[in-house]
Amino acid sequence: QAKKEGGRSYQIFDPQMQAEAIARLQLEQDLRKAITQKEFCLYYQPIISLITGEIKGFEALVRWKHPQQGMIPPDRFIPVAEETGLINPLGAWIFHEACKQLQHWQKQFPELPLTMNVNFSPVQFQQVNLFAQIVEILQETGIAKNTLNIEITETCLLKTEKFNFHSLQDINVGLCIDDFCTGYSSLRMLRDLPINTLKIDRSFVEDIIKNPHDTTLISTILLLGKSLNMEIVAEGIETQKQVEILQQLGCIWGQGYFFDQPLYNQKATQFLIDQSGANQTI
Ligand code: C2E
Ligand code: MG
Ligand code: MG
Ligand code: MG
Repeated sequence: QAKKEGGRSYQIFDPQMQAEAIARLQLEQDLRKAITQKEFCLYYQPIISLITGEIKGFEALVRWKHPQQGMIPPDRFIPVAEETGLINPLGAWIFHEACKQLQHWQKQFPELPLTMNVNFSPVQFQQVNLFAQIVEILQETGIAKNTLNIEITETCLLKTEKFNFHSLQDINVGLCIDDFCTGYSSLRMLRDLPINTLKIDRSFVEDIIKNPHDTTLISTILLLGKSLNMEIVAEGIETQKQVEILQQLGCIWGQGYFFDQPLYNQKATQFLIDQSGANQTI
């Protein structure tokens, strides 16, 4: 093996590489255990109308409550879950949990037409029974029609040949392109797939502050979205100034720390109580 690498066998004994390999193996083992022991939880970040301040719905974001290491963010374990295939059972749990929570909130707050966005990894679409899985969970939880959206990235659309995204329309599930403009999507894909939402990546929302005159890209996405009958959500809004610029540009939906961090379920419920109270006084 070492000879194949041109005799640079010393690389194998690099202590840092070895430490990384061990840590990674440990993470993989912990992740396997975490799935059977249900160490995960979902946080919910509100998606807000930039016009009225009212809530449209939530994006579900997974966290891992590691017994020793505390809260681990998804960027640290989703890639490992994808490489090991563990994303499939984890993704099924996430989808089920998010639908149950949405159904619960829809019953508790019938006056708020709430939606839920759930992130899917490209690996999940390789499962032959994914569509059946989705249908079963929708039936079991009984959420309202057209209130569930699947978020995927542009790269996911390119990688996924097996799954028929058009079938989502038949079951009233929306398709949302996450981190839009950071990958490769063609205009043809945007035209031909049943996409109902584009989420403008945080990096572009950041740029409008550094460069308030350079709003061309966001204006173009808004125009594109409008003409293709899609909704546009601006991600990662952190300041009032960003809200103002986005409002001026005609962006209707936003999400970010300026409004709220992702909230655990009790906090999100409190958020909804406040919102429905505010609505009643109008
Ligand atoms: P994403 O889907 O693009 O989610 C948005 C990320 O931006 C979240 O990070 C959110 O907490 C963060 N964020 C929201 N508002 C702001 C803001 O104003 N400023 C800044 N700096 N960040 C903001 P999080 O929860 O750490 O998730 C990171 C990524 O991990 C997600 O990016 C998504 O790709 C992936 N992920 C999260 N949950 C899931 C899941 O349930 N399934 C899968 N497959 N992937 C997930
Ligand atoms: Mg997302
Ligand atoms: Mg995103
Ligand atoms: Mg992302």
